[in-house]
Amino acid sequence: MSAMTTAPIPLIGLIPAELKSALIASGVPEKAAPMRMRQLWNWIYVHGTRDFAGMTNLAKDFRAHAEEHFSLALPEIVTEQVSTDGTRKWLLKSGGQEFETVFIPETERGTLCISSQVGCTLNCRFCHTGTQKLVRNLTAAEIVGQVMVARDRIGDWPGDTGKNAGESRRITNVVLMGMGEPLYNFDNVKAAVSIIADGDALAFSKRRVTLSTSGVVPMIQRAGAEIASSLAISLHAVRDGIRDVLVPINKKYPIAELLEACRTYPGVTNARRITFEYVMLKGVNYSLAEARELVQIIKGIPAKINLIPFNAWPGSPYECSEWEQIEKFAEIVNRAGYASPVRTPRGRDIMAACGQLKSESLKARASDRYAEMASAQVGK
Ligand code: SAH
Ligand code: SF4
Repeated sequence: MSAMTTAPIPLIGLIPAELKSALIASGVPEKAAPMRMRQLWNWIYVHGTRDFAGMTNLAKDFRAHAEEHFSLALPEIVTEQVSTDGTRKWLLKSGGQEFETVFIPETERGTLCISSQVGCTLNCRFCHTGTQKLVRNLTAAEIVGQVMVARDRIGDWPGDTGKNAGESRRITNVVLMGMGEPLYNFDNVKAAVSIIADGDALAFSKRRVTLSTSGVVPMIQRAGAEIASSLAISLHAVRDGIRDVLVPINKKYPIAELLEACRTYPGVTNARRITFEYVMLKGVNYSLAEARELVQIIKGIPAKINLIPFNAWPGSPYECSEWEQIEKFAEIVNRAGYASPVRTPRGRDIMAACGQLKSESLKARASDRYAEMASAQVGK
């Protein structure tokens, strides 16, 4: 055995080929590596086992080897908040950065909303995360880790005590709708989704994993072919002039190009529709004429429209449109043959609702930026 000590290699987030290579590099004979890989994979992702000692069917000497060479580190929980409506938000920390994950329990399902970046390079005007610069992409480990931490905290592993054998999982759906633009972190998101959706790992069906994008058109085709999750598009406006302001990436990839990418999204069918997200902003994008235009422009795309009441945040420049108007808008869309569910705001009291996420480390950056802006003003 070598006398050199190296830092343990984190295993969570490695795809199978990487895990196998890590085993071989650590000294596991090549012939034994595939079996060891499958055993570890099963303990880590099916059982949620958090230490090598608990992996009881592994030979003792291999457990000792694993303890010496590998780690099963997950993001640490900085805070956990529970809303009056049962929504839970975790502020997680990993690699010196903080990011948020939200669990939204409903009667028939439970949705976990995960982040793909710390901050965001885009700056959609109505989004809290968008007020910040991108700090960095999350790694595949940090993306998968969010699902694992959530399962830990709500006791959602198959063997957890208090859970009946046949009882269904509490987290039934995973949505990449937290902080960040997932298609700007393509490789890590792809690796993470492959683990989340692997039937021998976290085992969510790809249908129940939804990637939401602001409209990174050149990556949409690849996302369909290589990630193959369900797709949600942050549309939010039917005219380029308004969308240019709300979702500035529209200046690069206008509505017509975005919808064309949706039309040709691999695997889209009536059974697997694209979700268009549409945030209802008072006086901005909410007229009934726009509802009628909406159903015109998406004609031919198997779709549903998710209307999102705007969630305010400190300093946000918009107001949510009246409930009555949202209902009228929904009715027009619905009559044209598209499901138009209105997303119930959840966890607003703990700033956990759509578009409200922003981590403490980013707040520090925000104040730096405001300080910069203020001094620039003074210097004028
Ligand atoms: N960056 C990706 C995914 C994260 S945002 C995207 O933009 O699609 C998840 C969803 O929340 C998007 O549809 C986004 O437009 C919406 N959203 C952002 N801020 C919001 C707010 N303040 N109120 C309601 N929805 C918001
Ligand atoms: Fe980024 Fe999405 Fe927020 Fe836009 S809505 S700023 S793309 S996180």
